[in-house]
Amino acid sequence: MTETYDNWINGAFLAPRAGKRMVTTNPYSGDVWAEVADDADAVDQAVQAARSAFNDGPWATMSGRERARLMRKLGELLTRDAEALAQIETRDNGKIIRETTAQAKSLESYLDYFAGMADKIVGQQIPSPTPNFLVYTERVPKGVIGAIIPWNSPLALLTWKLGPLLAAGCTAVIKPSDITPVTALLLAERAAEAGFPPGVINVVTGGAEVGAAISSHPGIDKITFTGGGATARHVAKAAAENLTPAVLELGGKSPQIIFSDADPEAATNGLLAGIFAASGQTCVAGSRAYIHADIAEDVISRVVGRAGELVMGDPSDVATEMGPAASDGQRDRILGMIDAARDEGATIAAGGVVDPDLGGRFVRPTVITGVDNQSSIVREEVFGPVLTVMTFTDEDEVVKLANDSDYGLAAGVWTNDIRLGHRMARKLEVGTVWINTYRNVSYMAPFGGFKQSGYGKDNGLEALDGFLQTKTVWVELEGATRDPFVIG
Ligand code: NAD
Repeated sequence: MTETYDNWINGAFLAPRAGKRMVTTNPYSGDVWAEVADDADAVDQAVQAARSAFNDGPWATMSGRERARLMRKLGELLTRDAEALAQIETRDNGKIIRETTAQAKSLESYLDYFAGMADKIVGQQIPSPTPNFLVYTERVPKGVIGAIIPWNSPLALLTWKLGPLLAAGCTAVIKPSDITPVTALLLAERAAEAGFPPGVINVVTGGAEVGAAISSHPGIDKITFTGGGATARHVAKAAAENLTPAVLELGGKSPQIIFSDADPEAATNGLLAGIFAASGQTCVAGSRAYIHADIAEDVISRVVGRAGELVMGDPSDVATEMGPAASDGQRDRILGMIDAARDEGATIAAGGVVDPDLGGRFVRPTVITGVDNQSSIVREEVFGPVLTVMTFTDEDEVVKLANDSDYGLAAGVWTNDIRLGHRMARKLEVGTVWINTYRNVSYMAPFGGFKQSGYGKDNGLEALDGFLQTKTVWVELEGATRDPFVIG
């Protein structure tokens, strides 16, 4: 039976005024399982609610300690309901239950970390040019934040933004992806249960029109967006019309560099996990492998062998290692890019097709050789289980190959030479480098891209900074006179 969800505005579910709705589908079964609001007019209602909460509600005068208490309570409630939330995420985007469960259980740690900062936001006392002034700064919240979220890790990526913005004292209008609209609503419902005042967290579901209404709304003080580069350009342009700043967390084409001294088994595991985890539908997918020629044959045969053995199937089964693509459109895009690589003369060493037994949206883990850095499959983000493999012979050559990309989100380096590892970290033009590991993230570690992978950071101390602004206060203490017509 189809479930129906309204928007969450000002602390309650609110039906879309025009009654416009859209459906959400289970990518494994193909069944429509829920219907949600898709009404761009609701954005204005949500912005008004967020503005009132920011300016006049109890949130406006709440101490950092009290904000932290609410955030921690929300974290506890999300952990309490983690299993159920994970089931819904898996139902909505087809990600394996092992990952959605781990992510749902991690949300509390993100809220807890940022809650710890809520009562430690301090300004500075600034030295005065003359003794008769007291000059100081205050760190104040940015205001109403528009948060636009993708479908691949809906709750996790939302919480990466929510933690710091709530700690800062901001309020939010959130738009989850049209592919995964439900869990953000459930998070907002739990925020009310935790005691958050109405209007602090608002969720408006829907598609591009709703996203565009948020990015162009003059009542929004900052946009935080995670998604693809093409959408980001629309968001940045719309925000720029109002001079609204934006954080953009975008895609990648991340290199995995394996030197000849690397442990081949560990590197193989890293390559497989880097690209086939989440069916490659992760921004940090390690999609370009560069393997030293001396060990290339060995590592490629291990990767191809293991790619053929990955357990695909029902994503809600804990034994499943790889689920389906999240939508028909996503599957068609992945297959189209594999076909284009074939047409350009690449060799499909593994996969390259829809699984003959499972059919539907299950694209087999794919390994492609016979490509160079100009091949479209090496340059463009696939956002699917597709690994390209090239070889190299020396450090300078691989640095050039790895950096020859429009993207700069992350990179993996596999070597036992400590100096080489750190040298590579220094030379790679990316936001995150993993050495002898891959795909680690933490609330404590800033995360975000270089180049076309975006700007601004989620996580870590910097993320809080992004939701604060500095106010400078000058106080004249002694009634001394100065020429009011001269600045100084
Ligand atoms: P997307 O760009 O298609 O959608 C992202 C969000 O933008 C969705 O909520 C969507 O409904 C909304 N949107 C669509 N059109 C809009 C418009 N015109 N104006 C405003 N909003 C609009 O991305 P996606 O397919 O949901 O997610 C996949 C992409 O996200 C990949 O490129 C992936 O690499 C990237 N991603 C980046 C990170 C990161 O932290 N860097 C994390 C996860 C995913």
